[in-house]
Amino acid sequence: MISDRERSGIGMTSARTRERLIERLKEEGIRSEAVLNRIREVPRHLFVDEALSSRAYEDTALPIGHGQTISQPYVVARMTEAVIADGRPSKVLEIGTGCGYQTAILAGLADTVFSVERLGPLLRRARELLGSLGIRNVRFRHGDGWEGWKSHAPYDAIIVTAAPPETPQALLGQLAEGGRLIIPVGPRSHQELLTITRRGDQFEEQLIGHVIFVPLLPGLD
Ligand code: SAH
Repeated sequence: MISDRERSGIGMTSARTRERLIERLKEEGIRSEAVLNRIREVPRHLFVDEALSSRAYEDTALPIGHGQTISQPYVVARMTEAVIADGRPSKVLEIGTGCGYQTAILAGLADTVFSVERLGPLLRRARELLGSLGIRNVRFRHGDGWEGWKSHAPYDAIIVTAAPPETPQALLGQLAEGGRLIIPVGPRSHQELLTITRRGDQFEEQLIGHVIFVPLLPGLD
């Protein structure tokens, strides 16, 4: 349950604290007003453990249990900018729901978000939290992200928030024409964040930057 006190965001989670994060993201080069507004709107402190809520508006990744992390706001912002670069997507597939923060950001900027997570407890928590925030345009699946979510394909965008050593072929196959896959690829220590755009049978690759994500693991837990 979320108390009124949490909902209103008191103290370290105040509007001023949130605004400082927005300023910081602008300084770091985030330009999309739509993305900045959505980050301003979504209460990140509700997605982390209460003990960490005073740090929720720092531009940093934080632990969410089960050895996983909530992504750094800058990285969420950059990836979301890439998702909406061609306008509002109708269908977005997200691999790695985690605490559901990136999911909540996307839900305000796309018609429908499909989100796949391999850890059941994280998925349940994310589903409950998004429900309590009144977010209704997300479909969740307890599944293996390496396989995507074929029955709802093709997607205008696919965003992967855990890093595989190489791009999963199934995800390329589930992109719509002109659709884009935003994905960190590489070994555990450092990865390249890529946008891969489908042009017929060809895939155009563009480097966004360097990042560190938890690994995209095989199979269900
Ligand atoms: N977007 C999340 C980031 C979560 S961390 C957020 O904003 O909080 C990455 C997540 O990917 C973890 O929850 C992890 O369990 C999940 N994951 C790793 N391998 C996976 C796979 N094969 N299929 C689905 N989810 C996977």
